[in-house]
Amino acid sequence: MASDTGTQTVDRSTRRTTQGAFRLLDVFGITITLDYSWLIIFLLVLLSLSGGYFPFHFPGHTLTVYWLTGLIATVLFFASILVHELSHALIARRSGIDIKEITLFIFGGMAKISKNASDPLTELKIAVAGPLSSFVLAIIFWAVKNALTPGMVQAVFDYLAWINVALAIFNLVPGYPLDGGRILRALVWWRTGSEARATKWASDIGKGFAWALIILGGIQVFSGSLIGGLWLLLIGMFLRGVAEGGYQEVLMRQALHGVKVREVMVENVVSVPPDLPLDELAQKYFLKYGYGGFPVVEDGKPIGIITLSQLGEVSDERIKTETVRQAMTSIDSDLSIDAQASLVDALQTMMQIGSGRLLVLEGDKMIGMITKTGLVRFLEIRRVLER
Ligand SMILES: [Zn+2]
Repeated sequence: MASDTGTQTVDRSTRRTTQGAFRLLDVFGITITLDYSWLIIFLLVLLSLSGGYFPFHFPGHTLTVYWLTGLIATVLFFASILVHELSHALIARRSGIDIKEITLFIFGGMAKISKNASDPLTELKIAVAGPLSSFVLAIIFWAVKNALTPGMVQAVFDYLAWINVALAIFNLVPGYPLDGGRILRALVWWRTGSEARATKWASDIGKGFAWALIILGGIQVFSGSLIGGLWLLLIGMFLRGVAEGGYQEVLMRQALHGVKVREVMVENVVSVPPDLPLDELAQKYFLKYGYGGFPVVEDGKPIGIITLSQLGEVSDERIKTETVRQAMTSIDSDLSIDAQASLVDALQTMMQIGSGRLLVLEGDKMIGMITKTGLVRFLEIRRVLER
């Protein structure tokens, strides 16, 4: 069964919108994307309904009827997950937290929110919205079912009613990153005033639940239920990772709180001109300085960033003929940050766009660069000095 993994701030394991995902449509200004991994769960659900459930319970129909009925049920099931995620997103937006994208992927749905809630009540409202919408959907599907005469069509709505109840209950397990974990986190945060402690609780229970799924999955695999077991194993591993990451992110955010980008940035950044040939870039910059990336500056203004991994993707012939301009990532406001911004913002921007470095701007002039490695080192130094 597919799960929903709640609203999540985009972490390093999630890629930018366009890679590995297919843009489906925009609803209320929110882009709905389908990750390619989603196709696997879509086909599995479709297969189990059209090839198993319907033929078993309603024999005597043609294949076309089974596949069509299965397809309708499957599409409505994933539409239900979308409604669940949209509910999180719309409540978040009402609280001033922007959500630009909802992704359906192999483990269900995920609303990518731009930042975490800054107070427990907001967190609570956002978290509750999802399971609540699933329960409401279940009631609607149940009512439709009751209005229909017994048969395969009625069975579709019966299935949808129960799958939505299951979705709501699974998500109410009080372990982060599930909605129940977020609800618990909000309540503990509200009672104790400590976001870090609340997150530790929710994340520990989340990890415990994840391990339970992993163990259960392992037992199932060994007792012969391969696909179902593997499925639990994978969901468990995924949830464990997010639960761990969520706690670390909160700790990091607290440590970074109140520190400005200007205080941690690298000044005197070595920049490269856009018309530099790539082979010279390799020899005179990457090999010489040993950095992972350089800003590209033209007439004193930053116009892009070129990284070692970008250079690594360029073929040998292109390295001989092309220039930095052809291989760099052009700058948009995403790749830069204001010198007065806080380190929390810097970290959030980096995670959102999946970049390890940002140019630091004062007006439109580049005055430095801030890297994720630099942030981590800053945290380490601070930790050592504080002890
Ligand atoms: Zn949810």
